[in-house]
Amino acid sequence: MSRKVIIAGNWKMNKTAAEGKALVEELKKLVADVPVAKADIVVCPPFTTIAAVAEAIKGSNIRLGAQNIHWAANGAFTGEIAADMLKELGVEYVIIGHSERRQYFGETDATVNQRVKAALAAGFTPIVCVGEMLEEREGGRTEKVLFTQLEGGLAGLTKEDMGKVVVAYEPVWAIGTGKTATPELAEETHNYIRQTLNDMFGKEIGEGVRIQYGGSMKADNAKELVAQRNIDGGLIGGAALKADSFSALVHNAIAE
Ligand code: PEP
Repeated sequence: MSRKVIIAGNWKMNKTAAEGKALVEELKKLVADVPVAKADIVVCPPFTTIAAVAEAIKGSNIRLGAQNIHWAANGAFTGEIAADMLKELGVEYVIIGHSERRQYFGETDATVNQRVKAALAAGFTPIVCVGEMLEEREGGRTEKVLFTQLEGGLAGLTKEDMGKVVVAYEPVWAIGTGKTATPELAEETHNYIRQTLNDMFGKEIGEGVRIQYGGSMKADNAKELVAQRNIDGGLIGGAALKADSFSALVHNAIAE
């Protein structure tokens, strides 16, 4: 089954509105030649930068994502963001359960699950992040950790829901460290995730789910990673913060 490549830039807590606008003004020219049929290109700025970026990317092939979503429609949830607030700005994708949220902000598989359901109910494409810590990999517990995260984070989703979900495999030891998983190791883990999704939702659904790799992906390793059977794109941190490095990564990822 062929799955469309999806490259998403996670800007994390970087770029003011003015800086974000400047980045995408440059980026949209550099990726204008990338056919929409070939790849989804997504940028996920901080909340306060979304509106400026939304305006700047109008009419381009760049889509908009956010870095979190709360499960309630509104209310007393200081520091959180609701679906309607993102919708109004033209957001289409939402990153959920990034390892930094899990490590520093108490995100659990249960809260990931609530956020995923809220995102789906509002019509967003959730990008659900999973990944093991270094000690878990070294202790031979990678598959168990991933299974628990997938089972918990995707609990209660229907096959139809799952058709709209993107999974991002991000080994925590590779994020922002410059240590990329080798294409072989990444593929072995993506294959495990694919088999788990097949078991949970059936093969027709599981085979269609796009699984991104994340963890020090750059222009020079993107092609080899995305060439793997079960790697369908990337979730990019550092290399998404400059238009030229992100554009080069996108072009290499889709190069024949
Ligand atoms: C990320 O945080 O999603 C990520 C993959 O970061 P980096 O590309 O900087 O490793």
